Amino acid sequence: METMILLGKNPQQLGELTSSLNLPKFAARQLSDWLYKKHAASFEAMTNLSKAARSALAGQATIGCSDPGSVAVSTDGTKKYLFRALAGAWIETAWIPDDERATLCLSTQAGCRMGCHFCATARQGFSGNLDAADILNQYRSLPERDTVSNIVYMGMGEPLDNLEAVLASIRAFTEDWGLAMSPRRITVSTCGILAPLRRLLDETEVHVALSLHNPFDEERAQLMPIARSQPLEPILDLLRSYNWRGQRRLTLEYILFDGYNDSEDHFRQLVRLTRGLGDVRINLLRWNSVSGDDGVRGAPEETLELFRDSLNDEGIIATIRRSRGGDIAAACGLLSTARLRNAADTAAPAADKE
Ligand code: SF4
Repeated sequence: METMILLGKNPQQLGELTSSLNLPKFAARQLSDWLYKKHAASFEAMTNLSKAARSALAGQATIGCSDPGSVAVSTDGTKKYLFRALAGAWIETAWIPDDERATLCLSTQAGCRMGCHFCATARQGFSGNLDAADILNQYRSLPERDTVSNIVYMGMGEPLDNLEAVLASIRAFTEDWGLAMSPRRITVSTCGILAPLRRLLDETEVHVALSLHNPFDEERAQLMPIARSQPLEPILDLLRSYNWRGQRRLTLEYILFDGYNDSEDHFRQLVRLTRGLGDVRINLLRWNSVSGDDGVRGAPEETLELFRDSLNDEGIIATIRRSRGGDIAAACGLLSTARLRNAADTAAPAADKE
């Protein structure tokens, strides 16, 4: 029988395990409390389960938590951790402090197959999906776990390309039997894939961020190959059918590139696309070069400010987002692992302050 990984399992799945081991009915509830409320690292720590129950569980299951292999620390306090996924690949997690609160940026895949031209993860290719335990472990085993106020699914991978694991992890974060976090503390960022986006919108209450980057499909496809099969209008029509005026938030992400998506025409079309999207926000992002040879340049600061002010004049909330962790390549979508992966393979867990 295959070893079951418990992190990410819901009460029904835990109940199936405990009843297969002939444990009392309440054992499933005890198990989920130990997993999600008390963050137990071993079956031994689950002291209200009998010794026999603990040993039966240890024979069939594993918790699925593991400490990070290394960390890089930015001058602005951002930390980038490397975790080893269950299938063996190294994945990245960014912890981004901001005064009293901190945002945790989670990976959902080892690499990514979307191939966005501006993204360092895309250059690594795709090594596989993470499972729910891998996603949850990035929070569960984070040394700064108790400081995290917001979670963003914006690290390596396209969350909607690994929907079942992403949904299972969101349920464990938000359900009462799990970590009981408000879904308003969670944002899933996507390049936009219609069918799984509909499920995410219907089955969760989390905020959504759509990586737009160009309001014209043909031009967008030059930057984001997924746009060839996933044109913007059906995605925006779907988004228009949800309420973005309440507590749930929709954000459009827009990296401004010099001479590529920063013209008056782009601005006008961008404004047109926001119609019917309620209180949509636009995050204007400064471009961080992946390698310096990308063949694109970030738009000048004046253009960022002009876009922001003009969008605000149109009644659209637009902000220029601060880039964090630039010196350790921890900016969202720009994670680069090669050097850290080597460090993690060869070094004991350590804080390699850069
Ligand atoms: S930006 Fe996101 S979706 Fe695009 S290649 Fe990078 S990780 Fe994948």
